[in-house]
Amino acid sequence: MSQHSSPQFDNSYTSLPERFYAHQKPTPVRAPELIRINQALAAQLGISTEWLTSAQGLQVLAGNEIAPGSEPIATVYAGHQFGNWNPQLGDGRAVLLGEIIGTDGQRYDMQLKGAGRTPFARGGDGRAPLGPVLREYVVSEAMAALDVPTSRSLAAVVTGEQVMRDRPQPGGILTRICSSHIRIGTFQYFAGLGDTEAVRILADHVIARHYPEAGEADRPYVALLQAVIGRQARLIAQWQQLGFIHGVMNTDNTLISGETIDYGPCAFMDEYHPHTVFSSIDTAGRYAFVNQPPIGQWNLAWLARALLPILDTDEDAAVQAAQQAIDDYVALYQAAYDDLMARKLGLRGGDEESSSLVEELLGLMATANADYTLTFRRLAERAGPQGKIDGDSVADFFELPDSLAPWLSKWHATVERQKTSPAERQQQMLALNPVFIARNHLVEEAIRAAEDEGDLRPFHDLVDRLAAPCDYQSQDGRYAMPPTLGQRVRNTFCGT
Ligand code: AMP
Ligand code: MG
Repeated sequence: MSQHSSPQFDNSYTSLPERFYAHQKPTPVRAPELIRINQALAAQLGISTEWLTSAQGLQVLAGNEIAPGSEPIATVYAGHQFGNWNPQLGDGRAVLLGEIIGTDGQRYDMQLKGAGRTPFARGGDGRAPLGPVLREYVVSEAMAALDVPTSRSLAAVVTGEQVMRDRPQPGGILTRICSSHIRIGTFQYFAGLGDTEAVRILADHVIARHYPEAGEADRPYVALLQAVIGRQARLIAQWQQLGFIHGVMNTDNTLISGETIDYGPCAFMDEYHPHTVFSSIDTAGRYAFVNQPPIGQWNLAWLARALLPILDTDEDAAVQAAQQAIDDYVALYQAAYDDLMARKLGLRGGDEESSSLVEELLGLMATANADYTLTFRRLAERAGPQGKIDGDSVADFFELPDSLAPWLSKWHATVERQKTSPAERQQQMLALNPVFIARNHLVEEAIRAAEDEGDLRPFHDLVDRLAAPCDYQSQDGRYAMPPTLGQRVRNTFCGT
């Protein structure tokens, strides 16, 4: 393979029956220009950055040219959106170019989002405004840097065309990578049609692709359900641990692979309040921060229901297995969350004492309107020898609320009883408590500069800064600070 060759596609979804997708080429755009490519990700995928930045690369990333081996399709799915059943959704503005095998031997989807109308576009224009493309790029890459399973952003382009929303906006296309785009809603689509054969074909595909161990189990589809539930429980625990609010936890936005997808009206919390909602469309607060864990279970119950006809030959046994798997979610989630939170606080975890310390801390933070990220970061700094950090500190602009004093004594007493040295403990905590997160006001600032002034520098700087979320240097203080009153962004929009 020459240095400049296009990706080597190895497609498996197109070998599934025709009713799983529609053949759909991207719709060409007038004057595409490259905004950014993700060099580290390209290397991981074995895609040549020379090719990505070549004239042909740009045409492919813009949907103007089809690379050799690419078999572009739009996939069909259904889903519950804000609790309401929609029997047919599907990729309305995304085209799956094909699959590639990364240098890790894993299979990845390469998708263009904003690539034009498809048979599933309904009333939509098939396009994406530049703003949401930049938002997804920034936040998905920030999540990856925080070790959260997520879709990735390989490239972003501007199309040279306008898209009409509340006002005309520049159009963009994101090249999205994830280990597959198969959703709970994909299963729901076939289950909704009573097409049990398709449910089984899809389940077999998913087992081979994501959960090969389930294939060895006595009841492979029960094992599949349990495995998906385990991954989702762990994923949502990671969101909670970081103060991340997804914003649109619909079943069509829930990947079977357990990766985060669809960075629409998402946000990291600044001040900690459990009922925080950012999404402008989530008027009832269905997807508020505190509701994410139970909504995860609600979504997975729909997966269980879709799989019901294939779980067991005996109907009662199938229902029982499904119910058990769904019930198990609560304990799986709690164990994952308790473990992550305990480690955030330098505690061993898994006991009542650390859980109640976490609960108590969160209660105090809510009352004090404390910044979620910086509170934990400051605790990490104070976990070191003599309660100090050797190096730059966020104390320059953030200090723990006074009301935490009694809690701090308890926490100190607890960590003192555990074996690790203060230096070790601090190192562990600094690595688990980021200082740089994709704060809404920074994302908004980057989008405004790009849209209003054609200035992409703030976007590039933000992406670069968020790549090392735990390495703090005071020269980058402005990326770590909470928003001022004037900078605060109360609402985020999905931009569809
Ligand atoms: P989302 O809110 O991004 O998860 O999208 C929900 C559904 O609407 C999906 O089926 C999308 O493909 C579709 N959709 C969103 N925006 C557009 C658009 N501009 N044109 C066509 N379909 C869209
Ligand atoms: Mg979606």
